[in-house]
Amino acid sequence: MNLAKLPRRKYSYGPTPIEYLKNLTEHLGGPEIYIKRDDLLGLTGGGNKTRKLEFLVADALAKGADTLLTCGAVQSNHCRLTLSAARKEQLDCHLVLEERVPNSYHRNSNGNNFLFNLLGTDGITVVPGGSNMLEEMEKVAEKLRSEGKKPYIIPGGGSNEIGATGYVACAQEMMMQLFDQSLDIDCIVTPSGSAGTHAGLTVGMRASNNPIPIIGISVNKDKETQEGNVYKLIQKTADFLNVENAIDKSAVNVYDDYVGPGYSLPTEKMTEAIEMLAQHEGILLDPVYTGKVMAGFIDLVRTGYFSKGQKVLFLHTGGSPALYDYTSLFQ
Ligand SMILES: *Cc1c(COP(=O)(O)O)cnc(C)c1O
Repeated sequence: MNLAKLPRRKYSYGPTPIEYLKNLTEHLGGPEIYIKRDDLLGLTGGGNKTRKLEFLVADALAKGADTLLTCGAVQSNHCRLTLSAARKEQLDCHLVLEERVPNSYHRNSNGNNFLFNLLGTDGITVVPGGSNMLEEMEKVAEKLRSEGKKPYIIPGGGSNEIGATGYVACAQEMMMQLFDQSLDIDCIVTPSGSAGTHAGLTVGMRASNNPIPIIGISVNKDKETQEGNVYKLIQKTADFLNVENAIDKSAVNVYDDYVGPGYSLPTEKMTEAIEMLAQHEGILLDPVYTGKVMAGFIDLVRTGYFSKGQKVLFLHTGGSPALYDYTSLFQ
């Protein structure tokens, strides 16, 4: 596997830090907690989609596209970052937003909606929850083509084999850092949504025969569905990168107990987790992904899943701009 062969744009500089969370570790009294700060990646507001977009946008440019077209939920971080990459590359950008909660898109909402306006999209199409998003994007693409544009479709969350390659690269970066810091991690905890992050990390680690267990915490789907989605993308990504090691399905482990009433819908444990990280470490999580994933991680610590003395690395995938659309939960 030689990632340097692939077209890539660079939107961040240097590896993101791995920090020891001393206060949180003492507060919870369980394993030593480390955090990989992918919330500090480049483009507007940072977060995991930046790593995926480095490969996706490079592919779009290599194919002569002049317009990025993607989709997401109404407060999508992925849409914000795709738009940000488009502005940096001077490409047009169209978004298709799925109202997973009816009537939840308000043009003048705060958080990512505010940033969509500030960064300036070239078009937003809102579709009802449950729509076939690829078909909806294809419709917009057809219209753009009829106007002489060359759109490049990025799937939801940037989660195809090209986007997931961003997290294969992240796994390589992490292994270098852990070796450099002589940090022998027992477990990695990652959010698991559209699956590109979880799949890419797994391919990156296992392609180097690195056996550190990876736990995915679901923010949407049930365990079985999510493990299936992650494994499918692992196979596609491994094929794309000519990874020779066979990656066993047992490498994929998802916990689905922390989704609550549904995707993007608040839970009490989520608000507790966000307050805990803010007040003990000055780190902002987000209400849709990392807040729920941290809530799951805290629950695993409290229920004795990890032993004292173990070292656990939490992947912070960003998302804090969405917090500003959820301020009422914290008053
Ligand atoms: C998209 C997103 C995730 C989930 O990553 P996937 O690759 O879609 O599984 C996690 N955290 C944040 C902040 C995100 O925006």
